[in-house]
Amino acid sequence: MIQEVERQHIRALNPEKMIETIQQAIAAHHDLRAHEVALVKAGALPKTSSGKIRRHACRIEFLNGTLPIVGASTDKPLDSKVTLRSSAGSETTDSSQPVLPAETIKSWLMAKLGELLKIDPANLRSDEPFVNYGLDSLAIVNLSTEMEDWLGRRLSPSLLWDYPTMELLSAHLAKGPHPLQSNDGTLPEHYRFELFPEYQNLKQLMGAVEFGGGNPYFKINDLITQNTTVIDGRECINFSAYNYLGMSGDPVVSEAAKKAIDFYGTSVSASRVASGERVLHRELEQEIAGLIGAEDCIVYIGGHSANVTTISTLLGAEDLIMYDAYSHDSIHQGCLLSGARSMPFPHNDWRALEALLSEHRGRYRRALIIIEGVYSMDGDIPELPRFIEVKKTHKALLMIDEAHSMGVLGKTGRGIGEYFGTDPADVDLWMGTLSKSFASCGGYIAGCKAVVEYLKYFGSGFVYSVGISPPNAAAALAAIRMLKAEPERVARLHERANLFLQLAQEQGLNYGTSKDSPVVPVIVGDSFRCIALSHALLERGINVQPIIHPAVEEKAARLRFFVNCTHTEEQIHFTIDTVAREFARLATTASASG
Ligand code: PMP
Repeated sequence: MIQEVERQHIRALNPEKMIETIQQAIAAHHDLRAHEVALVKAGALPKTSSGKIRRHACRIEFLNGTLPIVGASTDKPLDSKVTLRSSAGSETTDSSQPVLPAETIKSWLMAKLGELLKIDPANLRSDEPFVNYGLDSLAIVNLSTEMEDWLGRRLSPSLLWDYPTMELLSAHLAKGPHPLQSNDGTLPEHYRFELFPEYQNLKQLMGAVEFGGGNPYFKINDLITQNTTVIDGRECINFSAYNYLGMSGDPVVSEAAKKAIDFYGTSVSASRVASGERVLHRELEQEIAGLIGAEDCIVYIGGHSANVTTISTLLGAEDLIMYDAYSHDSIHQGCLLSGARSMPFPHNDWRALEALLSEHRGRYRRALIIIEGVYSMDGDIPELPRFIEVKKTHKALLMIDEAHSMGVLGKTGRGIGEYFGTDPADVDLWMGTLSKSFASCGGYIAGCKAVVEYLKYFGSGFVYSVGISPPNAAAALAAIRMLKAEPERVARLHERANLFLQLAQEQGLNYGTSKDSPVVPVIVGDSFRCIALSHALLERGINVQPIIHPAVEEKAARLRFFVNCTHTEEQIHFTIDTVAREFARLATTASASG
């Protein structure tokens, strides 16, 4: 809590008395303890031109010690005279964060939920999942935002999903000191030195997953994985690789990588900023920028690190990030590392995004919207033109992760921009990976020159990491040139993906919201049956990955098929027939066994 004091009152100021009064008032009105109170000279707080206090700038100045402070509370435990209405005498359990009792948090949640649903809180059950009250994801985001304001601290954006009932959530938020901690905060020796007890949990989980067919993960694939793969010496039809254009394993691409090794070796052995720069790097970046129609491009050594580094470098504590609720892990990690206020919006729902921005945009410096070109679990595509309108209305930046849309969408495979006929300048950050259509390893951001140059000097995952290796750069470069020279690969990919979807529909398989993309889920409905179906299909010579809880909701457990342009029509017919037959057989076995 920071309070400005008028100049004429400073001389006669009794800081202790004033601070105590402020703490009492906060406790009485808000039921919160102020961890620290600082009194500063009038006019010292950073404000916007319209006079609003810039809260984040204020916090930064306070933490940096640059505010002209005329009186402050000590950081010792707070004055015992300050009592909260609902928790008289309760201890602050964390030295940096006041913690309220679970009951107080639960009562607040009950009241809020009652208000939201317009029902008497007495009729609510604290062990009922939030979603069962018909709260959609937008309402959940709003509830979590209000809770942040009430608690005065930042919460994980996925909190209400991780702790889905009032009971669980309030117990989590009220968490006190570790039960094993002694008074001086030390943890017992056995606990400090116990190595990875989590591993035991993993073993148990894998035991459950491995039933009758072995571990479905880390399967060894021999030889090149295109439309087929070799597992345990047996050739299978392969739907587990995102080699969409069949470029990995293509002799021209492999030859380019080999030549690069002969010319430059296998590593550039330094960060590009230092002495790792090679002609190949800039050639690749210009080729990607040209493909998208962007001014410039930066290539990182991974798609994951491209997202983490870019988001966390461009956004900070004063900023706001709104990301699609189905975003990839690398987007989540980037948001967390940035320190920006991050909020998920309901999947593909640009109207909900609009509503959230209308409510929150005003309080932040920069706002970033993040979506994907094709969602990798569902194979659906966002309505890009609508997102562009929202971004323009709210003067936000727009970033698109094209990991699964580059080389895939659009007549010539130039991605979601080509699919919708978008002006490339309407998207600020075109992100993509080199590991899918481009048969390599790496990630990129294409956009305006200023952002690209900034990232090259300030992006830690770029500056402090080695440059992309010569064979990887050369493979991606060759794949992009091949994409331009042979657009028929893209046309074939579209044909095969459409055929797969059409046959799945004819067989009555549930492929969710997949449309116009080669990512097609077959939703099975529970993890157990999903793994059993993937084992059964492997027996019949089809390799497809099961995606189970917690990667997706239990009732959405699925087999995820990646179609590519090397699949033949016969392979697709055989696959869909076999999936439908095995699915039906499994359902009969399940009902027969009760
Ligand atoms: N974004 C999305 C949407 C992805 O699916 C992935 C990985 N499949 C990544 C980023 C990370 O890319 P990479 O595996 O190339 O590091």
